[in-house]
Amino acid sequence: MSPGQFAAKKLMSEHGFTDLSDIPLELIASGLGATVLEKPMSNSDGRIVFGKRKTIITVNSNIEYEGKKRFTLAHEIGHLRMHRQHFLLHNDTDATLEYFRKGNQETEANEFASELLMPEALFKEISDDYEFGPELLRYLADYFKTSITSVAYHYFKFGHHPICLIYSYANKVKYWMRPDPYDHYMKNTTNLSPPEDSVATEYFKTGKIYSKKESKQPIWKSTWFELNSLENDNDFNFYEYCIITQKYNTALSVVWEE
Ligand SMILES: [Zn+2]
Repeated sequence: MSPGQFAAKKLMSEHGFTDLSDIPLELIASGLGATVLEKPMSNSDGRIVFGKRKTIITVNSNIEYEGKKRFTLAHEIGHLRMHRQHFLLHNDTDATLEYFRKGNQETEANEFASELLMPEALFKEISDDYEFGPELLRYLADYFKTSITSVAYHYFKFGHHPICLIYSYANKVKYWMRPDPYDHYMKNTTNLSPPEDSVATEYFKTGKIYSKKESKQPIWKSTWFELNSLENDNDFNFYEYCIITQKYNTALSVVWEE
Protein backbone atom coordinates (compact mmCIF):
# COMPACT_ATOMS: atom_id res chain seq x y z
CA MET A 1 0.00 0.00 0.00
CA SER A 2 1.31 3.46 -0.83
CA PRO A 3 2.16 5.89 2.00
CA GLY A 4 -0.61 8.26 0.89
CA GLN A 5 -3.22 5.52 0.84
CA PHE A 6 -2.04 4.31 4.22
CA ALA A 7 -2.31 7.79 5.74
CA ALA A 8 -5.86 8.22 4.42
CA LYS A 9 -6.95 4.85 5.78
CA LYS A 10 -5.47 5.75 9.13
CA LEU A 11 -7.32 9.06 9.23
CA MET A 12 -10.59 7.37 8.31
CA SER A 13 -10.23 4.67 10.93
CA GLU A 14 -9.27 7.19 13.63
CA HIS A 15 -12.59 8.89 13.03
CA GLY A 16 -14.63 5.81 12.32
CA PHE A 17 -15.40 6.80 8.73
CA THR A 18 -15.94 4.29 5.97
CA ASP A 19 -17.33 6.53 3.23
CA LEU A 20 -16.93 10.31 3.09
CA SER A 21 -19.16 10.92 0.09
CA ASP A 22 -21.79 12.64 2.25
CA ILE A 23 -19.40 14.53 4.49
CA PRO A 24 -18.12 18.02 3.67
CA LEU A 25 -14.33 17.88 3.61
CA GLU A 26 -14.20 21.33 5.24
CA LEU A 27 -15.20 19.56 8.46
CA ILE A 28 -12.32 17.12 8.17
CA ALA A 29 -9.90 19.97 7.47
CA SER A 30 -11.11 21.99 10.43
CA GLY A 31 -10.90 18.92 12.66
CA LEU A 32 -7.23 18.82 11.67
CA GLY A 33 -6.77 22.49 12.47
CA ALA A 34 -7.03 24.11 9.05
CA THR A 35 -9.37 26.79 7.78
CA VAL A 36 -10.65 26.36 4.23
CA LEU A 37 -11.29 29.34 1.98
CA GLU A 38 -12.62 29.40 -1.52
CA LYS A 39 -11.58 32.29 -3.73
CA PRO A 40 -10.48 32.99 -7.27
CA MET A 41 -6.85 32.09 -7.92
CA SER A 42 -5.08 32.79 -11.17
CA ASN A 43 -2.55 29.99 -11.53
CA SER A 44 -3.40 27.33 -9.00
CA ASP A 45 -6.12 24.91 -8.11
CA GLY A 46 -5.23 24.90 -4.44
CA ARG A 47 -2.78 26.15 -1.88
CA ILE A 48 -1.81 25.42 1.69
CA VAL A 49 -0.07 27.80 4.07
CA PHE A 50 1.17 26.45 7.36
CA GLY A 51 1.17 29.18 10.00
CA LYS A 52 2.39 29.04 13.55
CA ARG A 53 -1.14 28.94 14.88
CA LYS A 54 -3.36 28.53 11.91
CA THR A 55 -3.14 26.66 8.66
CA ILE A 56 -5.04 28.04 5.71
CA ILE A 57 -6.12 25.98 2.72
CA THR A 58 -7.37 27.86 -0.31
CA VAL A 59 -9.30 26.24 -3.14
CA ASN A 60 -9.76 28.07 -6.43
CA SER A 61 -13.43 29.08 -6.70
CA ASN A 62 -13.07 29.18 -10.50
CA ILE A 63 -12.70 25.42 -10.76
CA GLU A 64 -15.64 24.43 -12.87
CA TYR A 65 -16.52 21.07 -11.37
CA GLU A 66 -17.45 20.46 -7.75
CA GLY A 67 -15.76 17.07 -7.92
CA LYS A 68 -12.48 18.66 -8.91
CA LYS A 69 -12.78 21.21 -6.08
CA ARG A 70 -13.35 18.38 -3.67
CA PHE A 71 -10.39 16.41 -4.98
CA THR A 72 -8.21 19.52 -4.70
CA LEU A 73 -9.27 20.02 -1.09
CA ALA A 74 -8.63 16.34 -0.31
CA HIS A 75 -5.15 16.72 -1.88
CA GLU A 76 -4.41 19.71 0.40
CA ILE A 77 -5.66 17.75 3.41
CA GLY A 78 -3.11 15.13 2.38
CA HIS A 79 -0.36 17.75 2.60
CA LEU A 80 -1.79 18.89 5.93
CA ARG A 81 -1.68 15.42 7.34
CA MET A 82 1.62 14.26 5.87
CA HIS A 83 3.84 17.17 4.87
CA ARG A 84 3.70 19.82 7.55
CA GLN A 85 7.43 19.55 8.14
CA HIS A 86 8.29 19.81 4.42
CA PHE A 87 7.08 23.26 3.50
CA LEU A 88 5.45 26.39 4.82
CA LEU A 89 3.61 27.32 1.69
CA HIS A 90 2.65 25.14 -1.21
CA ASN A 91 0.82 25.90 -4.44
CA ASP A 92 -0.81 23.28 -6.59
CA THR A 93 -1.21 23.88 -10.27
CA ASP A 94 -2.34 20.95 -12.37
CA ALA A 95 -2.14 17.99 -10.02
CA THR A 96 -2.86 15.53 -12.84
CA LEU A 97 0.73 15.47 -13.98
CA GLU A 98 1.91 14.48 -10.56
CA TYR A 99 0.26 11.10 -10.67
CA PHE A 100 3.05 10.01 -12.94
CA ARG A 101 5.89 11.14 -10.74
CA LYS A 102 6.87 8.52 -8.32
CA GLY A 103 7.71 8.97 -4.69
CA ASN A 104 7.24 12.65 -4.16
CA GLN A 105 4.88 14.61 -2.01
CA GLU A 106 2.48 15.33 -4.86
CA THR A 107 1.99 11.65 -5.57
CA GLU A 108 1.49 11.03 -1.88
CA ALA A 109 -1.10 13.79 -1.63
CA ASN A 110 -2.93 12.43 -4.68
CA GLU A 111 -2.90 8.90 -3.33
CA PHE A 112 -4.15 10.21 -0.02
CA ALA A 113 -6.96 12.16 -1.70
CA SER A 114 -7.94 9.19 -3.88
CA GLU A 115 -8.25 6.84 -0.94
CA LEU A 116 -10.04 9.43 1.18
CA LEU A 117 -12.66 10.04 -1.50
CA MET A 118 -12.76 6.57 -3.07
CA PRO A 119 -11.96 3.94 -0.43
CA GLU A 120 -10.42 1.02 -2.27
CA ALA A 121 -12.82 -1.69 -1.12
CA LEU A 122 -15.94 0.32 -1.88
CA PHE A 123 -14.49 1.49 -5.19
CA LYS A 124 -13.87 -2.09 -6.26
CA GLU A 125 -17.24 -3.27 -5.05
CA ILE A 126 -19.04 -0.68 -7.16
CA SER A 127 -16.82 -0.59 -10.23
CA ASP A 128 -16.57 -4.38 -10.60
CA ASP A 129 -20.30 -4.58 -11.30
CA TYR A 130 -20.09 -2.61 -14.54
CA GLU A 131 -18.48 -2.82 -17.92
CA PHE A 132 -15.63 -0.39 -18.42
CA GLY A 133 -16.22 2.83 -20.38
CA PRO A 134 -16.52 6.61 -20.04
CA GLU A 135 -19.99 6.21 -18.57
CA LEU A 136 -18.65 4.14 -15.72
CA LEU A 137 -15.92 6.70 -15.00
CA ARG A 138 -18.52 9.46 -14.96
CA TYR A 139 -20.79 7.42 -12.75
CA LEU A 140 -17.97 6.80 -10.27
CA ALA A 141 -16.99 10.50 -10.31
CA ASP A 142 -20.59 11.41 -9.44
CA TYR A 143 -20.89 8.72 -6.83
CA PHE A 144 -17.67 9.60 -5.04
CA LYS A 145 -17.99 13.35 -5.77
CA THR A 146 -14.50 13.62 -7.19
CA SER A 147 -12.82 14.55 -10.47
CA ILE A 148 -13.07 12.30 -13.48
CA THR A 149 -9.27 12.37 -13.77
CA SER A 150 -8.81 11.05 -10.25
CA VAL A 151 -11.31 8.30 -11.02
CA ALA A 152 -9.39 7.30 -14.15
CA TYR A 153 -6.15 6.90 -12.19
CA HIS A 154 -7.89 5.05 -9.41
CA TYR A 155 -9.50 2.76 -11.94
CA PHE A 156 -6.13 2.12 -13.54
CA LYS A 157 -4.94 0.85 -10.16
CA PHE A 158 -7.98 -0.89 -8.79
CA GLY A 159 -10.41 -1.49 -11.66
CA HIS A 160 -10.99 -4.97 -13.03
CA HIS A 161 -10.64 -4.06 -16.73
CA PRO A 162 -7.09 -3.22 -17.89
CA ILE A 163 -6.71 0.33 -19.20
CA CYS A 164 -3.78 2.46 -20.36
CA LEU A 165 -3.35 6.13 -19.59
CA ILE A 166 -1.44 8.67 -21.65
CA TYR A 167 -1.01 12.21 -20.48
CA SER A 168 -0.28 14.86 -23.09
CA TYR A 169 0.34 18.56 -22.71
CA ALA A 170 0.39 21.07 -25.56
CA ASN A 171 0.50 18.31 -28.16
CA LYS A 172 3.38 16.42 -26.51
CA VAL A 173 3.10 13.13 -24.69
CA LYS A 174 4.51 13.60 -21.20
CA TYR A 175 3.89 10.24 -19.57
CA TRP A 176 2.10 6.99 -20.15
CA MET A 177 1.16 4.01 -18.04
CA ARG A 178 0.09 0.54 -18.97
CA PRO A 179 -0.91 -2.38 -16.79
CA ASP A 180 1.80 -4.87 -15.98
CA PRO A 181 1.51 -7.51 -17.35
CA TYR A 182 -0.31 -6.45 -20.50
CA ASP A 183 -0.69 -8.23 -23.83
CA HIS A 184 0.22 -5.24 -25.99
CA TYR A 185 3.36 -3.15 -26.31
CA MET A 186 2.83 0.53 -26.14
CA LYS A 187 4.72 2.73 -28.58
CA ASN A 188 7.09 4.94 -26.72
CA THR A 189 5.73 8.37 -27.54
CA THR A 190 7.20 10.24 -24.58
CA ASN A 191 8.18 13.77 -25.65
CA LEU A 192 6.70 13.20 -29.11
CA SER A 193 3.37 14.38 -30.46
CA PRO A 194 0.55 11.90 -29.85
CA PRO A 195 -0.07 9.60 -32.85
CA GLU A 196 -1.69 11.28 -35.86
CA ASP A 197 -4.86 9.19 -35.66
CA SER A 198 -5.36 9.49 -31.90
CA VAL A 199 -8.23 11.35 -30.27
CA ALA A 200 -5.65 13.41 -28.35
CA THR A 201 -4.21 14.70 -31.65
CA GLU A 202 -7.67 15.59 -32.87
CA TYR A 203 -8.05 17.82 -29.84
CA PHE A 204 -4.66 19.46 -30.11
CA LYS A 205 -4.90 20.03 -33.87
CA THR A 206 -8.56 20.97 -34.25
CA GLY A 207 -9.86 21.64 -30.75
CA LYS A 208 -12.36 18.82 -31.12
CA ILE A 209 -13.96 17.70 -27.85
CA TYR A 210 -16.45 14.87 -28.13
CA SER A 211 -19.81 15.02 -26.41
CA LYS A 212 -20.50 12.59 -23.58
CA LYS A 213 -22.40 10.34 -25.93
CA GLU A 214 -19.54 10.12 -28.42
CA SER A 215 -16.70 10.17 -25.93
CA LYS A 216 -15.83 6.51 -26.50
CA GLN A 217 -14.02 6.71 -29.83
CA PRO A 218 -12.92 3.65 -31.81
CA ILE A 219 -9.22 3.64 -32.74
CA TRP A 220 -6.84 1.11 -34.30
CA LYS A 221 -4.59 -0.98 -32.19
CA SER A 222 -1.72 0.56 -34.18
CA THR A 223 -2.66 4.04 -32.97
CA TRP A 224 -0.94 3.60 -29.61
CA PHE A 225 0.57 0.10 -29.79
CA GLU A 226 3.21 -1.77 -31.72
CA LEU A 227 1.85 -4.41 -34.06
CA ASN A 228 3.53 -7.74 -34.30
CA SER A 229 4.26 -8.99 -37.78
CA LEU A 230 1.28 -11.36 -37.89
CA GLU A 231 -1.29 -8.75 -37.09
CA ASN A 232 -3.30 -6.53 -39.26
CA ASP A 233 -4.07 -3.25 -37.58
CA ASN A 234 -7.75 -3.55 -38.32
CA ASP A 235 -8.00 -6.61 -36.16
CA PHE A 236 -8.53 -5.07 -32.81
CA ASN A 237 -11.28 -3.19 -31.11
CA PHE A 238 -9.49 -0.48 -29.19
CA TYR A 239 -11.05 2.66 -27.83
CA GLU A 240 -9.83 6.02 -26.66
CA TYR A 241 -11.62 8.37 -24.31
CA CYS A 242 -9.91 11.72 -23.96
CA ILE A 243 -10.34 13.74 -20.79
CA ILE A 244 -9.52 17.28 -21.83
CA THR A 245 -8.63 20.14 -19.50
CA GLN A 246 -8.69 23.19 -21.74
CA LYS A 247 -7.43 25.53 -19.04
CA TYR A 248 -4.13 23.63 -18.88
CA ASN A 249 -4.16 22.44 -22.49
CA THR A 250 -3.90 18.81 -21.43
CA ALA A 251 -5.43 15.58 -22.65
CA LEU A 252 -5.56 12.40 -20.62
CA SER A 253 -6.17 9.54 -23.05
CA VAL A 254 -7.79 6.48 -21.56
CA VAL A 255 -7.14 3.60 -23.97
CA TRP A 256 -8.56 0.11 -23.70
CA GLU A 257 -9.47 -3.02 -25.60
CA GLU A 258 -12.89 -4.56 -25.30
ZN1 LIG B 1 0.20 19.44 -3.76
